[in-house]
Amino acid sequence: MKAGIVGLPNVGKSTLFNCLSNAKAQSANFPFCTIEPNIGIVNVPDMRLEKLEELVKPERVLPATVEIVDIAGLVKGASKGEGLGNQFLGNIRETDAILHVLRCFDNDNVVHVDGNVNPIRDKETIDIELQLKDLETVDKKLEKVKRAAKTGNKEAIKEQEVLLKLKEGLEAGISVRAIDIAEDDRKELVAPLQFITDKPVLYVCNVDEDAAVNGNEYVEKVKEAVKDEHAEVLVLAVGTEADITELDDFEERKMFLNDIGLDEAGSAKLIRSAYKLLNQQTYFTAGVKEVRAWTIPVGATAPQAAGVIHTDFEKGFIRAEVIKYDDYVSLGSEAKVKDAGKLSVEGKEYVVQDGDVMHFRFNV
Ligand code: GDP
Repeated sequence: MKAGIVGLPNVGKSTLFNCLSNAKAQSANFPFCTIEPNIGIVNVPDMRLEKLEELVKPERVLPATVEIVDIAGLVKGASKGEGLGNQFLGNIRETDAILHVLRCFDNDNVVHVDGNVNPIRDKETIDIELQLKDLETVDKKLEKVKRAAKTGNKEAIKEQEVLLKLKEGLEAGISVRAIDIAEDDRKELVAPLQFITDKPVLYVCNVDEDAAVNGNEYVEKVKEAVKDEHAEVLVLAVGTEADITELDDFEERKMFLNDIGLDEAGSAKLIRSAYKLLNQQTYFTAGVKEVRAWTIPVGATAPQAAGVIHTDFEKGFIRAEVIKYDDYVSLGSEAKVKDAGKLSVEGKEYVVQDGDVMHFRFNV
């Protein structure tokens, strides 16, 4: 599962990427400093995992992870191939969700590609490029469908109708995710076309230190502008947090965060939000050798969850023993959970819930 960071040059993308991955990608004060797409794997912070570690005292702990891709180089004209645009749009297509960074800080020393700070205009600039790319996809598909529709093929006529609606919306500057289309049509006709502007998005407002907690006027404008998109808006002092991640000492980091009014790093919140944005959830396995968080799509069944560990687990699935996370923690151990009759045995149909502690029985 991949989340891609997008935004205009100099809004703080690579600083954010560094902050998330602790990889030391270049970050210089001029446009186009980050040309190669950078990829990083980040651990998803999860208090529950720490709690299970305390109780089980395993040899090792493995958190869930999300892949983050820093997609630099999106500029005005990108859909026409400007500024290496097409290549970057290709990179975005391969991601499952988008983290759209908007510059919400003033600083005369950091050049803005369009002269002044204006996150709404910046957002539109990026949106338009992505929408133009999707429009190309619609037009290509329309060409094909048109012929079949002319012969009176009912399915083709229906598809043509939906495509025309998408075309109309995109031409009016609306992203696919916000175009009004019936749920069934969305699933059957729109989703397979994998539009860029249909991917779930999270807006990251990059602010200065003093706005880390309450945001600022720019942030308010962003919130207003995206209110119909059903998208989350996150405030993050990217530059400050990047400085804090340079500190090796955990206590020192905490102190600096407290100083700016935060009880945890905004980047931790961002990673959790990205994970949720990908429509993923976590179940745990808890043994003395290893306590581990596993990632599954929301709605996955017990055999599908077992399949994430090993395909043989899915094929040979017999049953799952499930402990609710809260029961595990309040009772303190697997044995005590069993004694209390709180361990449930579930079959193939069981839909795994976020936080379940699972044990699988299977045939090999
Ligand atoms: P990118 O082109 O979007 O990847 O932008 P960079 O991450 O390279 O950032 C561009 C410049 O802005 C760098 O000099 C950063 O140090 C600076 N910068 C990034 N975030 C902030 C911030 O929150 N506040 C301030 N004042 N500067 C920042």
